[in-house]
Amino acid sequence: MTQIYLKPKKEESLLRQHPWVFSGAIHHIDGAVQEGQVVQVLASDGTLLGVGHYQIGSIAVRILSFEDEQIDASFWSARISEAYRMRRQIGLIRTDNDTYRLIHGEGDFLPGLVVDVYADTAVIQAHSVGMHLVRHTIAQTIIECVPEVHNIYYKSDGTLPHKAPIDDRTDQYLIGQPTSCLATENGLKFHIDWLRGQKTGFFVDQRENRSLLEHYAAGRDVLNMFCYTGGFSVYALRGGARLVHSVDSSAKAVEYVHRNVMLNFGNDAPHEAFAQDAFDFLSDIKNKYDLIILDPPAFAKHRDAVRNALQGYKRLNARAFEQIRPGGVLFTFSCSQAVDREMFRLAVFSAASMSGRRVRILHQLTQPQDHPVNIYHPEGEYLKGLVLQVE
Ligand code: SAH
Repeated sequence: MTQIYLKPKKEESLLRQHPWVFSGAIHHIDGAVQEGQVVQVLASDGTLLGVGHYQIGSIAVRILSFEDEQIDASFWSARISEAYRMRRQIGLIRTDNDTYRLIHGEGDFLPGLVVDVYADTAVIQAHSVGMHLVRHTIAQTIIECVPEVHNIYYKSDGTLPHKAPIDDRTDQYLIGQPTSCLATENGLKFHIDWLRGQKTGFFVDQRENRSLLEHYAAGRDVLNMFCYTGGFSVYALRGGARLVHSVDSSAKAVEYVHRNVMLNFGNDAPHEAFAQDAFDFLSDIKNKYDLIILDPPAFAKHRDAVRNALQGYKRLNARAFEQIRPGGVLFTFSCSQAVDREMFRLAVFSAASMSGRRVRILHQLTQPQDHPVNIYHPEGEYLKGLVLQVE
């Protein structure tokens, strides 16, 4: 197997089980190497540190195992069944909840791989060439380890590195083809469009936060900003909201939210959806709402975009603080990995202080159990949320 030797002292993060080898840490490569290949990583004194997928880029190796282990069918089976068992043990997989993330990259010790399950279909998303090359093995292993899953859709065109020399990156079914795209989350039905929707089709990571929102919804006038498929809207309606308005700049999202409200509540739900830019919509909502959700896309995709992102969060939240009804509740989120919890809180704090209103933090939210954070890879914590009461 090709061996990658690190520069002296560059082994320390790997000895602490951090799963990334940066290209700058490499001293030399012994043998021929191609993107996606499994390589051994060694310290400068020749000690084996781990095995992982090689890739050209700033992260040169994503470690799959810190032992001298074969990355073969039994490796995939062990890791995938371990992830499934964990989700089953914590009670996430039930007849009223068949929507969950099965594999969350580093959080499930499989950097570069994301798998979301929607009823009998699993959607695989590869972020590394290594995972792309073993996609058929992964698909077959999911079918063997997860009894409820019969179809596998592969959707990685948007997540694989653009320049990687990959022959076939077509999004397609690798196994089976479902007759329905309906899935259930906490007893609510959702139509999931993995073919045309964003990411794997649905934002599974807001499940627990949506559930919390349901408990705040009774009798309130709700604005769900950046609604996408309308997850928060549907929970708010079940929670007894008096009215729910869903807003997204994408017309397709507005179609999705309509369809999901219809699926659960029929035609008469007190719901309306608007295809409009968030900042425009928020420029003049006056005191129409007393429960507002702000769940924007990642404003900072990279470290260099953090400053602008923080300005964006501040402007957005300021509009909500200025206009929400007295006694109102604001659910506000950031899913930018590069913006940490403290920075986000500071941006929201600045927005609150611009409004001069009295604001209490009721909850501090994060990502759910099926998006676990590998303790040795703190970068895996990306979702941050605050629930604030505004007097
Ligand atoms: N809250 C959603 C996920 C939001 S994803 C859920 O629970 O599923 C972010 C959404 O913001 C996307 O649907 C995207 O179309 C929308 N969006 C991006 N920029 C926007 C803008 N300027 N105004 C309104 N919506 C926007």
